[in-house]
Order: sequence, then structure tokens, then C-alpha cells
Amino acid sequence: MPRALVIGAGVAGPAAAMFLQRAGWDVHVYEAEAEPDPYEGLFLNVATNGLSVLAELGIRDRLLTDAHRASRMVMRSGTGRELGAVPNGPAGDPERGSVIVRRGRLHTVIREAAEATGVPVTFGARLVSIDETSAGVRATFSDGAVAEGDILIGADGIGSATRRYIDPGAPRPRYSGLVGTGGFARVAGLAATPDTQYFVFGARSFFGYLVREDGEVYWFANMTAPQPERGSLRDVPSADWLTRLRDLHSDDPFPVPQILQNVQGDIGAYPIFDLSGVGSWSRGRVVAIGDAVHATSPSSGQGASLALEDAITLAKCVRDLPDRAAAFAEYQRQRQPRAEAVVRYARRIDGQKRVTKSRIGIAIRDWMMPKFLAKASEDTRNDWLYNHRIPWEEPVQAGRP
Ligand SMILES: Cc1cc2nc3c(=O)[nH]c(=O)nc-3n(C[C@H](O)[C@H](O)[C@H](O)COP(=O)(O)OP(=O)(O)OC[C@H]3O[C@@H](n4cnc5c(N)ncnc54)[C@H](O)[C@@H]3O)c2cc1C
Repeated sequence: MPRALVIGAGVAGPAAAMFLQRAGWDVHVYEAEAEPDPYEGLFLNVATNGLSVLAELGIRDRLLTDAHRASRMVMRSGTGRELGAVPNGPAGDPERGSVIVRRGRLHTVIREAAEATGVPVTFGARLVSIDETSAGVRATFSDGAVAEGDILIGADGIGSATRRYIDPGAPRPRYSGLVGTGGFARVAGLAATPDTQYFVFGARSFFGYLVREDGEVYWFANMTAPQPERGSLRDVPSADWLTRLRDLHSDDPFPVPQILQNVQGDIGAYPIFDLSGVGSWSRGRVVAIGDAVHATSPSSGQGASLALEDAITLAKCVRDLPDRAAAFAEYQRQRQPRAEAVVRYARRIDGQKRVTKSRIGIAIRDWMMPKFLAKASEDTRNDWLYNHRIPWEEPVQAGRP
């Protein structure tokens, strides 16, 4: 049986492992972190298209047992006025809307499903180098351990070591001009927001929140900031973030200041990067998927879903195209235009989130936006994001749409 080494147990890695196993491969996943972290990464949007890949894996319903369906996104001005709404899923079909889940929960559901089908996952295995011979590929890890296989799949995220091996000259991730923070809260008396996530164009920072049925608030803020020094945000104590956020949002409408007065637990903070224009997604026996080769800012709500789409597409190409180079090339051909269109889409939204201090700019935005968002339920312009389907059974034919 051919053997695949998968690097990274985030979203793409274990999903690719399960699909490849179905295609007749022996697969082993290697993860740099010492152990799973159920809290990791706050929360994210798993979009309709990503949910359909999870359905192919038979784990969609498991994820939905602890998810907030948010088929609508409502925009508010800095004065609290509703500017309009956009669907977070196919227009006019709230039942197929996207969901918000804790990132750690998404990782756990996918990884546990992989382990349950017999895919081993080794933690504390940080890939440091890759060597290829005509007979196979060897991965060396930071503790000196080695693993050998027929192919290596890099699902190692935006800082990918695999990408550096494939294409040392690949573009670097690009800073968006925004720092993301977020966390959880409980505000006495704040009503649940079924099906809805709210976004507020705050006076000095962009804010988003939802309230689950049990009253738990998921919130985030995107503040406009120069690019932080690498790793520097990790050392900032939550109390310092809280002080800064309360100040930034003190003039914003209810319930933004109230949420920030009632934060529970730590605050996560990340500089927001994206990545596009990676010329080659494979080299020899090595191929990369997910954020390793294209990363969208969280504004699209699509990063995890694109990673899942990559996983199924790569496995189908490997299953149906016996020539390895042809399979990897077909996978890139099918995926890159869509992934990079999503990156561009998110960049446009990031532009709206960056704070404008111009009163005229704010007035124009608050006047124009309701005209654009008037008929959210009929707004089909983003259906291309959500209606993308990749049926496992449908065979791949190189060069076909
Ligand atoms: C703050 C924030 C908010 C986000 N919000 C959303 C959202 O709302 N919706 C959405 O769809 N996406 C969102 N994303 C993006 C989403 O998390 C990613 O697009 C998605 O996780 C990509 O999956 P992946 O498997 O490619 O990478 P990851 O999930 O990043 O997984 C990569 C894994 O590889 C491991 N790894 C890295 N290097 C090595 C190595 N050398 N050896 C071994 N293992 C290694 C890492 O530890 C990690 O576990 C958000 C991201 C951030 C940071």
C-alpha cells in the first residue's frame, strides 16, 4: 500500500488523511504541537461549502452539536444604526447557512474522526527538513526522528516549512494592517442572537459578536495597527488588551462596551496576514494544501472551508490520476483560482474594516452601505463562495472544469 506523510493536524491535514485513506493509502499525520489544545484559536466560521466537505466525511452533524448557526450577518454603524444584512450562506436558504464554532472544537472533531478510522497522529513532531530520492521521501523532525513515505503533504499552515521546501522564492504572507483580538463573555440580560452575527463599524476599531442560546457571547475586534514585531503579541497580557479594547470601543453602541466589561477567560490576539501568488504548490513527491499555499484573512470566513476543499480535491486527483506529477498539477489547477479569488474578496472587506478618521468617509459609508445591502435575502453575489461542491464519487479528468 502506498504511504503518505501528512504534516500538520489543523484542519486540512487530518481531512486529507481520511480522504487519502479512502483512496487506498496508508497515512500518518505529524503535528508540531506537543498536544491538542481545545481552546486554541478562539472561534471561526465554517461556511456552507466547508460543511459539505465535512458531510462527505460523515462528521458534519457531529460538529453541529456545538455550533451557532449564523446564516445572516448584520452590519451596524458606529451610532448603532442598522446598515443592512448579508447572507452567510446561499441567498434565500438559511437552512444551509454557515456556522460559528470554536476552532479547537473543529480541530478535535476532524482529528478524532481520523484517529477513529485508524490514521495515527503523532504530536510533538515538528518537521525540519525534507529529502527526496527516486524511491521515496523522508521527513526529519526536530527531535531527530525520521519518517519515510511515497509522498509528503504539507498541511502546516501559513508559516509552512513545506512551502519553503517546494518554492523557496514563494511570496511571503502579507500583513493586512489589522490586528485581530477576540474572546468570550457573558452579559446579564443580553438576548441570544439566533442565526445572526453582528458587526459594528466602531469609532476606533471594528467589532463583531454573537450571543449563543445559553447566553455565551463570542466576540472579536479588528484594530487598525502597524505590523507588530514577530511573536510580540503573544507576550501581551489579557488585562492589557482589555484596557486597550475598552478604550477603543468606549464610544460604541450597546452592547459593545458591555461585552468588553464582561469578558471571561483569556483574550487571543493575532496579526492578520494573507497569502497568494505561490507559483508552485508541489515539487517532486511533496505537495502542500490549505493555508500553506493560500491564506485568506478571517474576513472571508473561508480559510477552514478552503482547507477542507483542498483536502478532498487533492485526494481525488491522487486517486484518479496515476501519474503523480499530473495529479499534483491538476489539484493546483482546480484550486488556485478559487482560493485566490477568496483572498481578493477578503482584502476588499479588510479595507472596509480599517478605521477611517474622516467624518466624510464615515458619512459616505453609512449612507451607501444600506443601498448595497438592501435585500440581503435575495443577494446572490456571494453564492459562488457557498455553493461550491466537490462530490467524492465524481471522477477527476485532467483539464476538465
Ligand atoms: C484569528 C483567526 C481567525 C480566523 N477565522 C476564520 C474564520 O472565521 N473562518 C475560517 O474559515 N477560517 C478562519 N481562520 C483561518 C483558519 O483558521 C485557517 O484558514 C485554517 O485553519 C487553515 O487550515 P490549515 O489546516 O491549512 O492550517 P492550520 O489550521 O493552521 O493547521 C496547521 C497545523 O500545522 C502545524 N504545523 C505547523 N508547522 C509545522 C511543522 N513544521 N511540523 C509539523 N506541524 C506543523 C500547526 O501546529 C497546525 O496544527 C482564522 C484564522 C485566524 C488566525
